[in-house]
Amino acid sequence: MKNLSELDKKHFIHPTSSIQQQQENGPKVIMEKGDGIFLTDNNGNAYMDAMSSLWNVNIGHGRKELADAAAQQMEKLAFSSAFSTFSHEPAIRLAEKIASIAPSGLNAVFFTSGGSESNDSAIKLTRHYWKIQGQPDRRKIIGLKRAYHGVAAASTSATGIPEFWGMAGHMVTDFTHADTPYGTGTEKAIKSLRLTIEAEGAEKVAAVMAEPIQGAGGVLIPPEDYLQKVRALCDEYGILFIADEVITGFGRTGKMFGLENWGVTPDLMTFAKGVTSGYLPLGGVIVSDHIHEVLKEKSAGTLFHGFTYSGHPTAASVALENIDIIEQEDLVENARNMGEEMLKGFQQIKADLDIIGDVRSVGLLGAVELMQDPDSNQNFSPDLQAAPKVIEALFQRGVICRPVRFDGTDIICFAPPIVINRSEVKQMVEKFHDAVSAMRKQLVF
Ligand code: PLP
Repeated sequence: MKNLSELDKKHFIHPTSSIQQQQENGPKVIMEKGDGIFLTDNNGNAYMDAMSSLWNVNIGHGRKELADAAAQQMEKLAFSSAFSTFSHEPAIRLAEKIASIAPSGLNAVFFTSGGSESNDSAIKLTRHYWKIQGQPDRRKIIGLKRAYHGVAAASTSATGIPEFWGMAGHMVTDFTHADTPYGTGTEKAIKSLRLTIEAEGAEKVAAVMAEPIQGAGGVLIPPEDYLQKVRALCDEYGILFIADEVITGFGRTGKMFGLENWGVTPDLMTFAKGVTSGYLPLGGVIVSDHIHEVLKEKSAGTLFHGFTYSGHPTAASVALENIDIIEQEDLVENARNMGEEMLKGFQQIKADLDIIGDVRSVGLLGAVELMQDPDSNQNFSPDLQAAPKVIEALFQRGVICRPVRFDGTDIICFAPPIVINRSEVKQMVEKFHDAVSAMRKQLVF
């Protein structure tokens, strides 16, 4: 039998990867098992999964309860349709459960298979909402620069990271991006959003779309009053607010949903990832009672939008079990407490080492910025590859993190499973300290 690495090179086109790098080196690692916050590869090496894989394995790896929930549901009814008003208990129960934990006033759920489909669905539902009320020209979606909303047609365009538009160009139109508040503050960002709305014409804008905390943009936490002001601006112009809670949902930030940190309620909220902790693919959009009322009253005939796996019964059963574990084990509170520990650890590293700029975290969604000279706000030269080097040093020490590099920044992101305990946080922070110290010797002249 050919070895796995050769087969990977020959047959597997990897998502968000360098195909040339894969062809030169083969896959970086072939994972075989997961247990708690750890992954083990096919050579027996263990890694701390400090990113919850793709910000999604919230309850950690290897939970038998989820395997059992899937097996039981598969034996009973692995799949049946939810089209044409066919229904089944797992999707009904999950919709009710999500309504019960979502911010009040959001009670009706459309299911998808993941985050990108959820954002495309939210965008289409938003445009449909305006159309059935006699405002078909309200199509524009205003996103934020550096936002990441996925790679389906509309979510690619809503994404504010231009590299994602480069691959195949834009598939859909009517998107624009306003400035973020990061670094410049609320006032400038709200002014940019207002100017963008006015430049487009408010009567042409369907929705403003934002992550409560930008994840792939580099764990960018907004200033305290920013999201409330976005909400107020949307209300002022009668525009809908779509919150992308794909990363921030299901306990990640020390609240069940990220926007709760700022007491803001959106009109539509998208979710995926942590809803099943990645054990099966599932996502969705939850809409306000008002939107649901408008749909009930005015959406005539069939709603021509649905995925084969919208409300997949096995995925829904796994999601119900996952949410039950999050609640029974107080994992939202654990994310808050362990997040504070993680942040204290980052602050200590900043005190010890002179190449650390901003350190930040909300719950267990955190980041550390590497800088040549934090006192004068000087970034490392991009050629030094500071963040990728630290990520590699961490990998060599058995910790998986993610680098983000934008406009000269070198950011290391952390989002460990929210089951992480105090001694594991300590271990993660110590290894990070060690990796940065080792790399400092190479990075500082
Ligand atoms: N929205 C956000 C905030 C994300 O971080 C992601 C994925 O990382 C997505 C949407 C897309 O989700 P998916 O990859 O499940 O399509």
